[in-house]
Amino acid sequence: MRKKIVAGNWKMNKTLPETQNLIQDLLRVINTENTVEVFVAPSFVNLKTAIEQTKNSAVKVAAQNMYFAENGAYTGEVSANMLQSIGVDTVILGHSERRAYFGETDKILKQKAEQAYHKNMMNIFCIGEKLEERQAGKHFSVVESQLKNALFDLPEDAFKKIVIAYEPVWAIGTGETATPEQAQEIHHFIREVIAKKYDKALADSLRILYGGSVKPNNAEEIFSQPDVDGGLIGGAALKADDFNAIIEAGKS
Ligand code: PEP
Repeated sequence: MRKKIVAGNWKMNKTLPETQNLIQDLLRVINTENTVEVFVAPSFVNLKTAIEQTKNSAVKVAAQNMYFAENGAYTGEVSANMLQSIGVDTVILGHSERRAYFGETDKILKQKAEQAYHKNMMNIFCIGEKLEERQAGKHFSVVESQLKNALFDLPEDAFKKIVIAYEPVWAIGTGETATPEQAQEIHHFIREVIAKKYDKALADSLRILYGGSVKPNNAEEIFSQPDVDGGLIGGAALKADDFNAIIEAGKS
């Protein structure tokens, strides 16, 4: 049985005091006997505070990105070692905003995924098609090639630390959501692609999250699909009550 994950991607939101307040609010409302794995991903500068605040709680902390090199002349970048030195062992890679605004290609993401594997970090790896690709019926081939290009040179054991986040670009921050049927269809397809490349047991144990305008009022329906193992949440993760309601939806 796959344990569900609800992860909040805070993007470029929340100053240090705002981060502290949101985590405090979340810790106040969250049920500590949680059967759902919960992550928050604040900005780099607030990760250390988040780690300290969530110590001994049900909330884990993830980074929104990292660079693939060990260290060196890469101005503005953050390494796996830096993250791990403050206690961050999970990273979101390949978010569509990183791909669209910061030029992250499958080739770059392959290197990042390899670095996450070498560092034994949990990798929440995002894939998903754009609106025009969905309209042209190319969504299956797009997600398949994103998986193949970035992840399929990794050995089987790397998938113990990989979570896939299927995030159709047209649903991110738009208020538009994939229907539960659309989500189920493509999550099932992703599992099949992984099973074909590796094996069925691995595919069956892999957690596949849905992301794209998940809110308290639609989370339960989406999360109840058999191949949907929780969600990656943007806007609704910025309010403790909404985020907690989504976490609760993951329990049913
Ligand atoms: C995201 O950015 O990963 C996301 C799913 O955002 P939103 O929930 O706001 O659509």
